[in-house]
Amino acid sequence: MKRSTDLYVDGKRHILVADDEMINRELLENILCDEYDVLLAEDGERAYELIRENRNTLSLILLDLIMPKLNGLDLLSRLKDEPELRSIPVIVLTSDQASEVESLNRGASDFIPKPYPQPDVIRARISRSIELAEDRQIISATERDELTGLYSSEYFYRYGEQFDKFHPDTDMDALCLDVNHFHIVNERFGMAKGDEILKKIAGCLVTFFSTSDCVICRKTADTFLVYCSHRDDYTSITDKISEVCCDMPTSVKLRIGVYASCDKKLDIRSRFDRAKIAADLIKNNYSVFVSVFDEKLMENELFAEQLVDEFPKALAEKQFKVFFQPKFNIVGDKPVLSSAEALVRWFHPTLGMISPGKFIPLFEEDGLIAQLDEYIWRCAADNIADWKKRLGLSVPVSVNLSRAEMYDPALVGTFEKITSESGITTKDIYLEITESAYVRDSDQIVERVKELREHGFFIEMDDFGSGYSSLNMISELPIDALKLDMMFIRNAFNKSGDTRMISIVIDIADYLGVPVIAEGVETEEQYLTLKKLGCSIIQGYYFSKPVPAEEFEKFLLEKDS
Ligand code: C2E
Ligand code: CA
Ligand code: CA
Repeated sequence: MKRSTDLYVDGKRHILVADDEMINRELLENILCDEYDVLLAEDGERAYELIRENRNTLSLILLDLIMPKLNGLDLLSRLKDEPELRSIPVIVLTSDQASEVESLNRGASDFIPKPYPQPDVIRARISRSIELAEDRQIISATERDELTGLYSSEYFYRYGEQFDKFHPDTDMDALCLDVNHFHIVNERFGMAKGDEILKKIAGCLVTFFSTSDCVICRKTADTFLVYCSHRDDYTSITDKISEVCCDMPTSVKLRIGVYASCDKKLDIRSRFDRAKIAADLIKNNYSVFVSVFDEKLMENELFAEQLVDEFPKALAEKQFKVFFQPKFNIVGDKPVLSSAEALVRWFHPTLGMISPGKFIPLFEEDGLIAQLDEYIWRCAADNIADWKKRLGLSVPVSVNLSRAEMYDPALVGTFEKITSESGITTKDIYLEITESAYVRDSDQIVERVKELREHGFFIEMDDFGSGYSSLNMISELPIDALKLDMMFIRNAFNKSGDTRMISIVIDIADYLGVPVIAEGVETEEQYLTLKKLGCSIIQGYYFSKPVPAEEFEKFLLEKDS
């Protein structure tokens, strides 16, 4: 866009008149000088020099065809080959009708015959050519993404539709390509490197698809869309990208969602929604780079949409229920109920019971989780209060927190309100925070955890072993218990029977002075081995599945007896 803004700097547009005959130059200068700033060149080479010098401000070139040093037609060809100069409109001055076609072919936008017509006619043709060129430039600035030169999404969809109109029978694929962890590239290496990578990717895509009918765009920062005739070699794109980015400070991997052989009855944007659904499916997968959309995926997507849509009603109608799963202390001879975990279930009027694995991730993505969790925490608190009051019994119940909630400055206030309103204490409700929450943006999370602990809350690090916390970090973490991730235990018992990793974690916990809780314990063998290794608390189907509040009462009563 640089040119069109500079055009108005001094109020007059700049025009170059290139003609070897002085009389012609003077004539045109006289006609134009009131309205334009006129530059003059007496031969082709001089004209080229002036064009290059003034390339950012020049509005139009009036070009004689027969000139010494460099003739008009050759100059036209030169301009056409240079991207920076190509967009400056050229009107050819000629007495030779045969050259008119040739000059139009070489990119001239109009011609003025010699001998010259009336000054008004000349002025009108000039102003029209300038206007057209400036319009075209505005269009191409919005049509193209400035960084990569690819189409912007608005025009991309339009050209895609146009392509369909003229080629209704071509089998087309819609592709959505995302750069894995691009924000990290920007954060670690700076925006300039990020931009460089995006440009390389764009270049690589243009080359890759040069043999197909295709339209390509950059949709958002690191998302590219391609609409192309069907092919099935998309896996090789990732290799090509790695190749062109091999001089970058980090490896660059794309994930590619493909909606192959599009249904053209769907509107074009929906086709790319499908490609995106497929791409998102492999978001955290480090070994698969191409994902193809199928109807099953669509079903899942619609199901997810339904759950999100129905959330407010479900919450209002109390369709969410809290289940409790007991945790047992196994240090002594006999396991003793020590606490419980509150786990949500959705009792849907038509779909039946839905497990949290299906909706928690959706609600986390859509920002609904905070509402649901606060409701669940309240329910758990009310149950604890009820047991205390009615049975005179209770154990601490831990509730789950999602990562996003750790950024909420009001979090401590929320828990204080819940405990005081239900009439329980901070010792009755424990908080489970997943290990992966600590790893990313750890400073803020650690601060929040400290704040919660200062207010008397007990913090359990959930899913320990699934994240990537370093030993260094763990030793500085403010926590009260380590909860071993279920898969961690499963692997140890299933594959190799090698329990050394569990021993190491128990040693770490000992060093930190906190107990280890093992979850997902299903067999007696697991229970006995964990006990021998020094694990102090166990949760899992071996003792009980998560059960409704009424059923959980029996564990409380048993403990008391
Ligand atoms: P989690 O916090 O790791 O919870 C443990 C999960 O393991 C629960 O699944 C539990 O039912 C299951 N489980 C317990 N013992 C065993 C066992 O012996 N074998 C097997 N195979 N599974 C066992 P659930 O209830 O389906 O919850 C899944 C996840 O959903 C939870 O994982 C937690 O991350 C999330 N979640 C559940 N309730 C809530 C909630 O109220 N708020 C939030 N934010 N997340 C929740
Ligand atoms: Ca948990
Ligand atoms: Ca867990």
